[in-house]
Amino acid sequence: MMAACETVRGFWDRLLGRFFRNFPCLSDRARRSSLGLKAVLVLLHVVFVGVLYLLDTDLIRKTREMPWYMGAYLLLVLATLVQYFITAFSSPGYVIDAMAAGSEMHTTHVNSSRNSMQHASRNGTLISSLNNSQLGRNNPRMNSSYWLKLVMELYPPGSSSRSWTCLYCNLIQPPRAKHCHDCNKCVLQFDHHCVWLGTCIGKGNHCRFWWYIFAETVVCIWSGVLYISFLRSDLMNVWWKIMIVVVLFIGLSLCFIFLLLLLLFHTFLVLTNQTTYELVRRRRIPYLRGIPERVRPFSKGICRNLYNFCCSFDSIYNLEAVPTLEELEERARSYTCTDILTCRCC
Ligand SMILES: [Zn+2]
Ligand SMILES: [Zn+2]
Repeated sequence: MMAACETVRGFWDRLLGRFFRNFPCLSDRARRSSLGLKAVLVLLHVVFVGVLYLLDTDLIRKTREMPWYMGAYLLLVLATLVQYFITAFSSPGYVIDAMAAGSEMHTTHVNSSRNSMQHASRNGTLISSLNNSQLGRNNPRMNSSYWLKLVMELYPPGSSSRSWTCLYCNLIQPPRAKHCHDCNKCVLQFDHHCVWLGTCIGKGNHCRFWWYIFAETVVCIWSGVLYISFLRSDLMNVWWKIMIVVVLFIGLSLCFIFLLLLLLFHTFLVLTNQTTYELVRRRRIPYLRGIPERVRPFSKGICRNLYNFCCSFDSIYNLEAVPTLEELEERARSYTCTDILTCRCC
């Protein structure tokens, strides 16, 4: 019996080894569980929509009569899944990428200045910008000193770079960045690590994440309407059909409550330019300590916050400075009638 078990186990291990050699991306356990969750999410959508079509025979007739209505519903489900995968595979904005982008720009700027100076001084001797660019890129000391200078300007004067150096990545973090232990990288404007998406939510993909939960909430509402109309129809005369539909409807309602609360919470964060991490761990973040709870230190008014969140696609690496004392005092000031008339909050 033991020998048979050993043989089966050996065969299984060899089979797994061969499988992981052919699909190396699945050899990592974290990646496997992330892919498993993605498959579960797609399956949930298929089950919730598929059951309607399987049990509600009237729905196929309705689809023929009103193709635009059911077509729009199926298109929305598809668009939600596409949005899910776009968010899951988009970069949340890593500090290391911002550092590389910043250094690249700095190198180009320095080289173009040098080029023009050398061009002028040597009276027409043009030095290749490519060679200079490679020189700059191959000089990490210059890049890191540039990054250090850039980041330290964002903190209040007198701050030590040691306080903002990530112990895991050995990088200097700009304000609002945090190291994610799941991704093992420092993320700009870190919000949270989303298990369902298998990625961090940060400056680079927070907008996509908001649109994803918005689309998922609308899908839930629309599916709920279809479930209710099915439950009220005459076709509900078989007990097992009632059981299946009621269980799925309860599941759908719970998903809807969760998604709606999440959507409202993230809308509040967007309007006040905050992150989940900053809100939950406010007292633990050194530059937020001592700031009154009602003051949103990075908020620039509802309209500006909304514009920066939705429309500033090219500014993923635009870093925000910690507000000065004067700015904080201005934001902490109580609202007067004039402030309301001039829409100070916007
Ligand atoms: Zn880090
Ligand atoms: Zn992460």
